[in-house]
Amino acid sequence: MQNTSASAQDPAHPARPDASPGDEVAAPPRAAGAALAGRVLRGARAPRAVVIGSGFGGLAAAVRLGVRGYDVTVVEKLDQPGGRAYVHRQDGFTFDAGPTVITAPFLLEELWQLCGRNMADDIDMRPVAPFYRIRFHDGATFDYTGDAAAMRAEVARLSPGDVEGYERFVRRSEEIFRVGFEELAHVPFGSWMDMARIVPDMMRLESYRTVYGLVAKHVKDDRLRQVLSFHPLLVGGNPFSTTSIYSLIAFLERNWGVHFPIGGTGALVKGLVSLIEGLGGSVRCGAEVRRISVEGGRARGVELASGERLAADVVVSNADSAWTYRHLVPPEARKRWTDRRIERQRYSMSLFVWYFGTRRQYPDVAHHTILLGPRYRPLLEDIFEKHVLADDFSLYLHRPTATDPALAPPGCDAFYVLSPVPNLLSGTHWPTTQERYRRSISALLEATLLPGLEGALASSRLLTPQDFQDRLLSFRGAAFGPEPVLTQSAFFRPHNASEDVERLYLVGAGTHPGAGLPGVLSSARVLDQVVPDASKLV
Ligand SMILES: Cc1cc2nc3c(=O)[nH]c(=O)nc-3n(C[C@H](O)[C@H](O)[C@H](O)COP(=O)(O)OP(=O)(O)OC[C@H]3O[C@@H](n4cnc5c(N)ncnc54)[C@H](O)[C@@H]3O)c2cc1C
Repeated sequence: MQNTSASAQDPAHPARPDASPGDEVAAPPRAAGAALAGRVLRGARAPRAVVIGSGFGGLAAAVRLGVRGYDVTVVEKLDQPGGRAYVHRQDGFTFDAGPTVITAPFLLEELWQLCGRNMADDIDMRPVAPFYRIRFHDGATFDYTGDAAAMRAEVARLSPGDVEGYERFVRRSEEIFRVGFEELAHVPFGSWMDMARIVPDMMRLESYRTVYGLVAKHVKDDRLRQVLSFHPLLVGGNPFSTTSIYSLIAFLERNWGVHFPIGGTGALVKGLVSLIEGLGGSVRCGAEVRRISVEGGRARGVELASGERLAADVVVSNADSAWTYRHLVPPEARKRWTDRRIERQRYSMSLFVWYFGTRRQYPDVAHHTILLGPRYRPLLEDIFEKHVLADDFSLYLHRPTATDPALAPPGCDAFYVLSPVPNLLSGTHWPTTQERYRRSISALLEATLLPGLEGALASSRLLTPQDFQDRLLSFRGAAFGPEPVLTQSAFFRPHNASEDVERLYLVGAGTHPGAGLPGVLSSARVLDQVVPDASKLV
């Protein structure tokens, strides 16, 4: 297969996007002090880029555009940057709202390198072990780590007959990574030809199988099948319908580890904002975009809810892709992404998240625990296919204070627990359901990992599918944009270079390659190939 991304060949050491010979764009600044030089091209005023939204995808896009000579303004609806990675500080606790499992750190490091800086100078990234402690419904546990021998031993403990099949699965996930991540994640997929080129590899790697189908081909034990197939849930996919390409996540974790920054994920957001500002750009919070101005089929800027207009040479939307087309791009400018088409897409699950602090500590609880419920496939069917809120659940429990005790007052622990739930198609009335649902989760945690929980609560807040829609402006309250099924991936996902509007670009979970930090950081990387050089616009 042809690799169209020069910098995607070695994801461990991604090269900075090279300027072609003869490009007039100022070379990407190699030192923070030289950064402002990137804004002025041969004495001319730098072209303006407006980025709508400050999720990881938007912030990464802003860094890359700043490095390439654009004068960048990020406009964010909320009062703080980060999007799903917003940070709630209350009662002395620091709660990272969203991403906690940090994989593919090289994608973040590359952003610092592009600015001539070292991420390690700003961010104290710690490896997390085990990656996950998986707790089955009967109380048995499985420690999922990056250590090959330890994993073999865990597999043998659970199902001795599956060790060989497990090894085959690991080798397959590496093969899938070599194609799915190294060759596909950074390709724009703007044409049918891009798609046609990958078909032979997709067939060879059995992409027509689902993640669960691929796992089940290699191992027999039901519990092991769950352990090896839950990864798509991290990016909003149902293991029983997500293409097996997503098995690459297993290799990504195994090879580069799972990390957590001291100070929490918010430290990464702060670091990225400082890169943008170091390049002369700015992040304006409390600025909601109401409309993308389109004239003559080309994006010309944005109009804020306040009525203020910001002119721009390029507009990048990090807002939810469905929301961007449905509510920000005027209908007369949309031929491809009509309301009907947007409504016919399948959207990912949503999440119920309970952030809580305890006035005591639970030192035996790992940083990341997955508590599997009594049902696996039927529960996922309830969530993804039937859109009903079940009485049972499988949970992910986050205890960041296992790695950074400073995220809670002395003697306390900070947590969040997340339950995958259907998006708003379920019709659940969350304002009247949320407390009952929280209590049933609390009862389960109290009976399993966190004895005395209700009596030890010192802080509490909730995030429901309704908040995903109302606060984060996500269509149908989906937590991860369009569901990552084969027919909504790559060419079939909203493109990074808008199919409808010139000079409008999309980054983030709802565009290619998809959700999760590696996905949204890669979407920003694609912009280097589709956004014209700043020199061409002056
Ligand atoms: C609870 C939770 C846990 C997760 N855990 C992990 C994990 O452990 N590891 C992992 O890799 N991924 C995880 N994910 C997924 C990951 O967080 C997301 O896929 C990723 O952060 C999304 O980034 P994004 O670039 O799409 O932007 P988002 O974070 O979605 O941000 C978009 C921003 O745009 C703003 N916006 C929207 N509309 C407008 C408008 N009109 N005007 C101005 N601003 C606007 C929003 O306010 C928001 O700030 C998790 C997600 C959630 C919700």
